[in-house]
Order: sequence, then structure tokens, then C-alpha cells
Amino acid sequence: MGFRQDHLLGIEPLAPDEIQEILDLADDYVALSRSDDKHSDALAGLTQINMFFENSTRTQASFELAGKRLGADVMNMSLAASSIKKGETLIDTAMTLNAMRPDLLVVRHPHSGAVDLLAQKVNCAVLNAGDGQHEHPTQALLDALTIRRKKGRLHRLSIAICGDIAHSRVARSNLILLGKMENRIRLVGPPTLIPAGMADLGCEVYEDMAEGLRDVDVVMMLRLQKERMDGGFIPSEREYYHLYGLDAEKLAHAKEDAIVMHPGPMNRGVEIDGALADDINRSVIQEQVEMGVSVRMAAMDLLARNLKRRRQAA
Ligand code: ASP
Repeated sequence: MGFRQDHLLGIEPLAPDEIQEILDLADDYVALSRSDDKHSDALAGLTQINMFFENSTRTQASFELAGKRLGADVMNMSLAASSIKKGETLIDTAMTLNAMRPDLLVVRHPHSGAVDLLAQKVNCAVLNAGDGQHEHPTQALLDALTIRRKKGRLHRLSIAICGDIAHSRVARSNLILLGKMENRIRLVGPPTLIPAGMADLGCEVYEDMAEGLRDVDVVMMLRLQKERMDGGFIPSEREYYHLYGLDAEKLAHAKEDAIVMHPGPMNRGVEIDGALADDINRSVIQEQVEMGVSVRMAAMDLLARNLKRRRQAA
């Protein structure tokens, strides 16, 4: 049936075959990115604008590199520091950018739903690079690609998502994606950081790391989102590390070949032990960064094909 989306606003609207299609194309782009000539002309002639209303290091760099490898003209705008501070509304900013005729708009925004709103106002393909606590679809796709390549499949795996589930768009997008692919998902963390009702969504919820990690194939750690917390969600970072920080001892409860993931940026010594994060026999954190570029190349390529089709038909 093929990839049918006009935008990539979340994982929610994607069907399993569309997810597989992005990952299959991303595999090709991993091979291209590992070769000496990393260029393709899939986005030649197209303009990509990256609008980041919230700070980002790896996601912005990854989208920029992805666009450049595919031959797009890429422009970065860090709006956290510019017009938004002068009181321009999101829609004004969108209309201004729209007049510059972009083909791909990559947007990160602190408010859930802001990227969807923008997508309704512009004439190009929009990619959500993280909106509030809502979704971060390319992160879930790059995590899926990493898991598929490491485990040889993306279904019937036992996956523990651990830590600050409540504030994490990464957890949300991953839950949706891994659920669509029929995996067994466990959420592990203190009750203050796990939203109520998660068990009704088919996840198993654990308060204890040793129990939650028992025999899992994948351990996905999350950053403690301090900037999104306005009260006492945890007693202290020291105590949190003691109970929920992933170290070799806690990891020993998982399967012997379980992989360790983290979306970055990491709080070493808070949610994960620094030595374990750097252990290339267990941690796939660097692979996740590598897969990020290829997944974003694939997503932009597929969206650009649909955009060109729509424009030709108009
Ligand atoms: N980089 C991810 C995000 O933008 C994860 C994080 O910040 O903890 O959501």
C-alpha cells in the first residue's frame, strides 16, 4: 500500500506497514551513511527548515545532517531566542516561514499539539521533532531501528521502559510504536512518575527494578525531565539513583544479551551509571544516535515523495 502520510506528527497515525517501510528505507540509508560518498539526491532542490522552539543538540544536528546527505537546502532557526520572545505568535511565525516556500518543516515546540496546529497552516510536509509531553516520533523510529538490527526482529520482545514515564514524549511514542508491533511492554518507575491507568493500556507496571527487568530483552532508560517537574516527584537524586538508576547489578536481572538504551541527554549517576552507558557490550546508545540520522533521512524522503505526488496532482 505504501507510505501514505502527508506529515509525520506522531506514531499514532502510522500503520505497522508504514513503520516497516520507514525502517526498511532507513536500513539502506545506514549503508549509504557508512560509505565514503554519503550523498544522495532524494531531496535535491527542496528546502528544509528546522524550527526549534526548545533547545536540542542531537535531534537538530541529526535532522540537519539527514537533509544535507539527501541534497536539500537546510536552514536552522533557533526560535527559543528570537521572535517568540518578542511576542510573535506561533501562527505568525508559521506564515512568515510559509512565505519562504519550504518543502519540509521540522518543528520542536514545548507545547503538546503545537506542531499539529502548524501543520494545518503551512503548505509543506511537517515533521514533529518533539512537542511537549506528547510525541517524538523520529526518536521512537530510531529506537525501533536499533532494536530491529540488534535483536533481528521488532515483535514479541519483552521491553522495559524505565524512569520518568510521566513527562516523557519519548516514552509515549515508544509505547505506541512497540505496542503496534506486538511487543510486551513493562513500565518501571516510582508511582509518582507513572501516569495512572497505564495497566489498562496493556502494559505491565512495576515499582521495583529487579522485578521489572527480570528476563527482558531491552532496557530503555529515560532522562529525569527536571525541567517539566514542578514539585516533589522524587525524594532526592541520590535516592532515585539507588532505587532506579541502571547499573550492572540491576541489569543482571535482565536477559544475558539484553541491550541498554537511552535517548539522551543522559544524567549520569541519576538514571544510569556512566560506566554502563559507555560499555559497548551492553549499551547501544551510540548506535541510537547513528540510526537517528538514517531514520530521519528515510522519513523525509518518503514525505517528500508524497509531497511531490500531491503537487503534481494539484
Ligand atoms: N531528547 C529527548 C527529547 O527531546 C529526550 C530527552 O530530552 O530526555 O524528548
